[in-house]
Amino acid sequence: MLTFLANAKINLHLEIIGSRPDGFHELVMVMQSVALADRITLRPLNTPTIQIQCDHPQVPTDSANLAYQAVALLQERLPHRTNQKGGVEITIEKKIPVGAGLAGGSSNAAAVLFGLDILWDLGLTRVELQELGSELGSDVPFCLAGGCAIATGRGEEVNLLYKNNSLHAVLAKYNSLSVSTPWAYQTYREQFGHTYIPVDRFTSLEKRRARVHSGSMVQAIGKKQSQAIGSNLYNDLEKIVLPAHPKVALLKSTMTALAAQFNALGTLMSGSGPTLFTLSETPEQAQSMAKALRQSVSDSDLMVYTAPFTAHGIETLS
Ligand code: ATP
Repeated sequence: MLTFLANAKINLHLEIIGSRPDGFHELVMVMQSVALADRITLRPLNTPTIQIQCDHPQVPTDSANLAYQAVALLQERLPHRTNQKGGVEITIEKKIPVGAGLAGGSSNAAAVLFGLDILWDLGLTRVELQELGSELGSDVPFCLAGGCAIATGRGEEVNLLYKNNSLHAVLAKYNSLSVSTPWAYQTYREQFGHTYIPVDRFTSLEKRRARVHSGSMVQAIGKKQSQAIGSNLYNDLEKIVLPAHPKVALLKSTMTALAAQFNALGTLMSGSGPTLFTLSETPEQAQSMAKALRQSVSDSDLMVYTAPFTAHGIETLS
């Protein structure tokens, strides 16, 4: 039996560049792992079945679960290496909010790929695991890598950046509110499609990507300039999600005002939301801000977490 921590991610930068021939969007993102983690336990079974258990009612326990799909993908792609191994029971203890823009499902799939490589002695390299992971979801390769990275393409091309920025995030999400990632991107296309760079203008795409690689956020991360990281936070999908969910827009204003009061670094929505985060330089400041946020929003539906940046996507516990 093996147990892993599967960490969530936040986006420090999310820019939509254009459409791809495969129907996805061409993106440039800066992703960061945070130590808000699901606990994934893998137990070998003698029979060739895949069983999922999860303590969260919104998470499917059948073949719709990304963890299930990770096992099935390994069995399909590596039949000779997996067919003598029996099945597996996967227990998911959910701490990462669901449908939150924090890549909870993707991190679970990453943990299963990583874990079965060990449990079944498959001998896959990091690159091979990431290639398989990209078939399950665009965020899976980053979740396998962890730390801080630039992700391009549809998010699956991961270039690791420096791993040692030791900031803290205060994360806030209304428990009963989830945002569908396909809805957010589709609505963005409807409203902003006219601004997209055509895919055939490859050099423009490359220039735009290069601009992020040498841009202010990446420089701030490299130079460990916390204030500059805070002032360069950016997410195109806020233009869609905040107007559609005024409650989240109001929460962002509250968190921005608190950040100014506490001299914290900046506030942004992660991924397709609706989770918002404020960055802080110390754990004490993050805790105080989380407490003040709970006091100023008197809604029992609001969930508030604090989590430090971490250099790891998946961590082995036992
Ligand atoms: P992303 O940031 O990658 O867009 P998200 O954080 O917005 O993802 P998830 O928490 O991954 O969203 O869940 C989205 C949907 O995926 C859920 O509503 C759920 O039905 C489905 N799902 C499938 N497998 C899982 C899993 N292991 N954990 C959570 N959700 C899962």
